Amino acid sequence: MEGVGRDRKRGGYSRHVFEPAERELREWFVEEAERRDLAVRTDRNGNIWAWWGEPGTDAVVTGSHLDSVPGGGAFDGPLGVVSALAAVDALRAQDFTPIRPLAIVVFAEEEGGRFGVPCLGSRLMSGAIDPDVARRLTDPAGITFAEAAAEAGLDPARVGRDDEALAAVHTFVELHVEQGRGLIDLGAPVGVASSILAHGRWRFGFAGEGNHAGATLLGDRRDPMVPAAEMVLAARIAASEVDDGRATVGRIVPNPGGTNVIASTVDVWLDARAGDDASTREIVERVRAMAADAAERENCVLTVVEESYGDTVVFDSELRDQVSRALGGVPALPTGAGHDAGILAAHLSTAMLFVRNPTGISHAPEEFAEADDCQAGVTALATVLERLTG
Ligand SMILES: [Zn+2]
Repeated sequence: MEGVGRDRKRGGYSRHVFEPAERELREWFVEEAERRDLAVRTDRNGNIWAWWGEPGTDAVVTGSHLDSVPGGGAFDGPLGVVSALAAVDALRAQDFTPIRPLAIVVFAEEEGGRFGVPCLGSRLMSGAIDPDVARRLTDPAGITFAEAAAEAGLDPARVGRDDEALAAVHTFVELHVEQGRGLIDLGAPVGVASSILAHGRWRFGFAGEGNHAGATLLGDRRDPMVPAAEMVLAARIAASEVDDGRATVGRIVPNPGGTNVIASTVDVWLDARAGDDASTREIVERVRAMAADAAERENCVLTVVEESYGDTVVFDSELRDQVSRALGGVPALPTGAGHDAGILAAHLSTAMLFVRNPTGISHAPEEFAEADDCQAGVTALATVLERLTG
């Protein structure tokens, strides 16, 4: 997988759902699964399932995603998929045969790197997003999710809640590179997740008046970049005022985006997270209030759209303890990152294993995990799958 989807401009990898690099990885996964005699099928939301044993209602499923953020690292997503394949190999090498069906899943558009809504594949499958809303999502080139899905061989009319797929999963265990410094500080190669912060994405649209950068007097301007800039600072202030709050602006799109042009509109995306729903909402409301003030001073119009939201997830404590015990008492730790396991936690028993990340850096080319720690992750996953399916 190493050479697929390298991003020469940003560094790291850009593997966006249904684009050539991500599709190449999908094909790679199907080949790897079929080489292991796993029965492969793609569901109507573009998630790929590889079954060891007949699908039933008591299956244990593991897996992750193959798409990336723009300029992302090599481990976020692929580590969980590769480790799942390696865990199946390890179990077979021990002549283990699962009593309960076991499957590996690859979820589509986990990062929301192309269509803006994270965990789109698991949200669609579990009914957490209206399929009409999903079909209308657009990528930066203006292509809709419906168009991209059709091009990838799906029937866009059939995306949405998939009770059959959902009913087939009893337990989901996702292995993932840790995104943070929890395990490095604990001196442990592998840990289990306890919770995920509440988090969401909001698009702040500032509308002003496009005009000439030289010919327009300052007093005559309605420049949306000015309140947009104030909003970036407001995000930092608002998050710092809330306990364990985090707010990020990582994406700003001015239209038309010319050096000698006052923008007519500027879209700014806010990612806000905190320990609970109320704190997260409070950050967003504070940013909204400051942004609205700034917009008014510049005679611009502000609109705010919530693009995605997920409340705090506390993983099934019984399963978490069972997994930790099976691994000799590995530590449990919270995370600020969202995952498909967090979406599915609303419907079924889910757990996550984290593999140590020596710098804690993620969503960047520097993301890393030592080979020994990756191997420890595979061994841990195999042990957990053996315990849950045997
Ligand atoms: Zn991930």
